[in-house]
Amino acid sequence: MTRSFLSLGSNLGARLGYLRAAVEAIERGPLIEVAGISKVYETMPVEVDEEQPDYLNCVVEVRYGAAAVELLRFCQGVEAALGRTGKGGRLPRTVDIDILLFGEEVIERPHLVVPHPGILRAFNLRGLADLAPGVYIPGRGAVRGLLAGADLSGIREFGESL
Ligand code: AMP
Repeated sequence: MTRSFLSLGSNLGARLGYLRAAVEAIERGPLIEVAGISKVYETMPVEVDEEQPDYLNCVVEVRYGAAAVELLRFCQGVEAALGRTGKGGRLPRTVDIDILLFGEEVIERPHLVVPHPGILRAFNLRGLADLAPGVYIPGRGAVRGLLAGADLSGIREFGESL
């Protein structure tokens, strides 16, 4: 089993409901166990051109019993099942699932980059720190130290958790 961390985000419709539905779908998945869920953070959209609703984000720790590419395929299936509309660009989405870490593997393929290029975003670091402050991000260092240097403006704890 590989210890992996997923980043979940939603900025359309019933955002918390979509995050909950995504976690439930992950829990039902094959070869996967949910080991922890971070607090939920509300964040202003980053790297988008036009006005968009704020995101709710959280990090989910899982144990996965197959390869990272299989986990990617599984996560894409969950996104599709929950009605994600836009792929690719920075479009609003019901739910977006990214693989932040897959053990300490470094993967650089056309369709799968791990650690995820967005892993240093403040909401990802905060979510990772909720679950595993000592976890090592290959090539970057431990989450705890990276969080200490992060700009946390623009993200706030959301009142409700999953
Ligand atoms: P996005 O619309 O930002 O979710 O990007 C989706 C695309 O990112 C898909 O085509 C994936 O193949 C690709 N991708 C690359 N690395 C990752 C990763 N670590 N987790 C999820 N998607 C990834």
